[in-house]
Amino acid sequence: MTANVDLNEKMARLQAQADGKDVPPKPAPQPKSDEPTVAWLQAETKKWAKLKGWEDDRGVGDLMMLMVTELAEAYEEYRDWHEPGEVYVKDGKPEGIPVELADVVIRILVFCGKYDIDLQAVILQKMAFNNTREHRHGGKRV
Ligand SMILES: [Mg+2]
Repeated sequence: MTANVDLNEKMARLQAQADGKDVPPKPAPQPKSDEPTVAWLQAETKKWAKLKGWEDDRGVGDLMMLMVTELAEAYEEYRDWHEPGEVYVKDGKPEGIPVELADVVIRILVFCGKYDIDLQAVILQKMAFNNTREHRHGGKRV
């Protein structure tokens, strides 16, 4: 039944696109009950950081710059001709742009865990606000 719903929705979207109508964004897949949530991942990374000795006295600026360095590592993967979705293993370690993006998220989750930020709630709050904004709000080029 779900496959028919997905197919009907896809066909309606394609028809709207062909008719030159605005196509609404595809609805996000609903999480399955056994899939980790952002809140669960945040709790797990907090436990991991403590277990591995990363729960230390580094300050806000250092932790934020570590998020940036992981993003720079993703860019270095791109500079080394790796495709955005490519994950490869080098010396037993997963590498690639997706892996570095995962590192960015892990750094963010650890930060939020340290400072008791409910990231999942804030993401939902910000997405709700973003939905109220006009198309390409701000009128910037990029
Ligand atoms: Mg990394």
